[in-house]
Amino acid sequence: MSDTANTVTGNEAAEIDSALDALLADNDPKKMSYEDFRGAQYDHGLAWVYFDKGFGGLGVSPGLQRQVDVRIREAGASPMKAAMFFMHLAGPTIHTHGSEETKQRLLRPMFTGEERWCQLFSEPGAGSDFAGLATRAVKDGDSWIVNGQKVWNTMAHLGDWGMLVTRTDPEMPKHRGMTYFAVDMKSQGVDVQPLRQITGEAEFNEVFLTDVEIPDTNRIGDVGDGWRVSLTTLMNERNAIGGGSGGGPPKAGSGPVSILLKMWKETPDEQRNSVTLDRIMRLYVRAEAQRLTNIRAGQNRRKGNPGPEMSIAKLAFAELNQDLLTAAVDMMGMAGQVGCDYTFRRPEDLSVDGSETGIQHGFLRVRANSIEGGTSEIMRNILGEQVLGLPGEPRLDKDIPWIEVPRS
Ligand SMILES: Cc1cc2nc3c(=O)[nH]c(=O)nc-3n(C[C@H](O)[C@H](O)[C@H](O)COP(=O)(O)OP(=O)(O)OC[C@H]3O[C@@H](n4cnc5c(N)ncnc54)[C@H](O)[C@@H]3O)c2cc1C
Repeated sequence: MSDTANTVTGNEAAEIDSALDALLADNDPKKMSYEDFRGAQYDHGLAWVYFDKGFGGLGVSPGLQRQVDVRIREAGASPMKAAMFFMHLAGPTIHTHGSEETKQRLLRPMFTGEERWCQLFSEPGAGSDFAGLATRAVKDGDSWIVNGQKVWNTMAHLGDWGMLVTRTDPEMPKHRGMTYFAVDMKSQGVDVQPLRQITGEAEFNEVFLTDVEIPDTNRIGDVGDGWRVSLTTLMNERNAIGGGSGGGPPKAGSGPVSILLKMWKETPDEQRNSVTLDRIMRLYVRAEAQRLTNIRAGQNRRKGNPGPEMSIAKLAFAELNQDLLTAAVDMMGMAGQVGCDYTFRRPEDLSVDGSETGIQHGFLRVRANSIEGGTSEIMRNILGEQVLGLPGEPRLDKDIPWIEVPRS
C-alpha cells in the first residue's frame, strides 16, 4: 500500500459527509433501537470506514472514523456498549483474512451487537508465549474437531462467537502450525466457567473445549497461517486498549483523568494543597500527550493492520490508568480503603476505569491493564526489538517442531 492510502483526502472527507447526510436523513438515532441504527450505519459504509464497500466501509482512510463518531454522537446516537469491545479485534481480523462468506455472515451482526464476540487465545501454558498454545484441531471431513482449554476469556459467558486459535500441525515449529477459527460459542462441547477477580466479579472465564465441531467454512485464513491472522487481532487489540481506534478520549480532560479533575473541583478551598495539584497536573499532561499521540497514530496507521507502534499506546495507557486511579484513591483518604462491593457477580458489560463503577472498583480493575492484551514487559520487548531495533531476546524454540519443545 502506498503512503497516500493513509492520507485523508478532501474527496474522502466529502464522501464521508455525504454518507452521513444520507444515513441521518433516513435514520434518527433518537427514535430507533440501538441495533437498528447501527445496522443502518453499517449499510451506509460508516461502521468501519476503511473496510471495503459492502462490508460496512467505504474504503477510505481509517482516520475518518472520528468524523463519523462525532457526527452521529451529535445526532443523539448512544455510545458503543463496552461489552462490544471485541468487535475492534474480530472485525478487522475477519475483514483482512476471512472469506467473502464469513465476512458476509459475521460482520454486520457483530457491529450491531446482535452477536457478541470473545477472544479465545490464552491457555494455562500459553499467555505471553501465545504461539506455544496446545489446543488441538484435527480435520474431519468438512469440519474440524477441537479439544483443549482456554483461559482469562473476557465476557465469554455472553459471547455468541469466539476468536479461536488452535494447533493444527504439531510437527511444525510453533508459529507455523496454528490455525484460526470463528467458533460458535453455543456449539456442543463448549463449557464456559467463571473466574473471579479481585473486584469480586467474574468478568472473565475458563473455556473448556471437548470434541467441538467447527465447519471448515468458519476458518479465518489459511490452514497453518493462524499466527499471521492472530497478529492482526493482537495489534488491533493493543490499538483498541490504548485508545487509538477512535475509542480514546475525544477531548482534553475526558476519560479517566476526568475523575481527578472532578475530585479537585469538589475539594473545598481549605483542603486543597499544591502537592496534590502538582500531581494532578502531571497526570493531566500525560493524559493529554497520550490522547494527542493516539489521534496522530490513528491517522497514520495502515488500514486495519496497526503496526508495533501501537504497543506504545497500550503500554502508556496501562501505566497512566494505574497512576490515575492510585492518585484518586489517595485523594479519598481513608474513605478510599472501603466501598468496593466484592460480591460475586457476572457483569453484563465491561467497565474498566472507575468512571461508572466507582473509584475503588476502578483502582482494583486497572491492575489488570498491564496484563490484559499483552503484559507491559512484552510491550517493552516489542518496542525494543521492532521499533528501536535493539537485539532480540534468545528464542531457542523458534525453529524446532512444536511437539519437541519441552513444556510443563
Ligand atoms: C483482565 C484480563 C482480561 C483478559 N482477557 C483475555 C481474553 O479475553 N482472551 C484471552 O485469550 N486472554 C485474555 N487475557 C489473558 C492475557 O492475554 C494474559 O494474561 C497475558 O498475555 C499474560 O499471559 P499469562 O497470564 O499466561 O502470563 P505469563 O505469560 O505466564 O507471564 C508471567 C509474567 O512473566 C512475564 N514474562 C513472560 N514472558 C516474558 C518475556 N519474554 N520477557 C519478559 N517478561 C516476560 C510477564 O510479563 C508476566 O509478568 C486477559 C487477562 C486479563 C488480566
